[in-house]
Amino acid sequence: CGIVAYTGHKEAYPIIIKGLKRLEYRGYDSTGVALLNGGLNVYKKKGKVSDLEAHLKDVHLAGNIGIGHTRWATHGAPNDVNAHPHYSSDKKLAIIHNGIIENYSVIKQDLINKGHIFLSETDSEVLIHFIEDIQVHANCSLEEAVRLALQKVVGAYAIVIMSEDNPRRLIAARKGSPLVIGVGKDEYFLASDATPIIEYTKEVIYLDDHHIAVIANNHLSIKSLEDIPIIPYVHTLELEL
Ligand code: GLU
Repeated sequence: CGIVAYTGHKEAYPIIIKGLKRLEYRGYDSTGVALLNGGLNVYKKKGKVSDLEAHLKDVHLAGNIGIGHTRWATHGAPNDVNAHPHYSSDKKLAIIHNGIIENYSVIKQDLINKGHIFLSETDSEVLIHFIEDIQVHANCSLEEAVRLALQKVVGAYAIVIMSEDNPRRLIAARKGSPLVIGVGKDEYFLASDATPIIEYTKEVIYLDDHHIAVIANNHLSIKSLEDIPIIPYVHTLELEL
């Protein structure tokens, strides 16, 4: 139900945890974070953001890129395994997702027939395996695989994807669930609303439905699901927190 992600020069984990706390008012049952720190590591637990923090208090959590999520379960019970982020089968991709993939069971069955093994009961894990499968079979970039997958998805989503193969890239997309991009100086923030972002930057872009944002090496580009480049409109926030 809440998304926070960061890429830049700061430590990602404290920014993500603080941001997720700012989104707590939206309601949730589980919390999770993925960081790239010498590998792609996912930490997740049923319960509050503070429960995850307490659970991780002795864990080394360095890294300048990461994604965080608070889940409001729609498919699969609230538990540690169903909490986000979810991995692809090669564990090189991680996704956080708000919303519902309505046609997930057809896609899931097809992927199971191809040998995919699912750990959770969520629709969200199906989406990252679907993207992985498309990338392998179409032999395309991850950006292109995300675009092709989302063309086939029915439902609502705000997603952020991170890949071990590119430690300076986040891919985000939305349809029906909000996603805001904060534009800092050599850093970018992603969140479900502007409250986690405003203390770092007042420059924000409200991602539109059917648009995909790629932030790679400190450069943002947005395109539509039809592969048309979009020129983003940068708003300056005036609200003070
Ligand atoms: N449908 C997803 C799930 O049940 C995402 C729920 C959410 O928006 O938090 O895990």
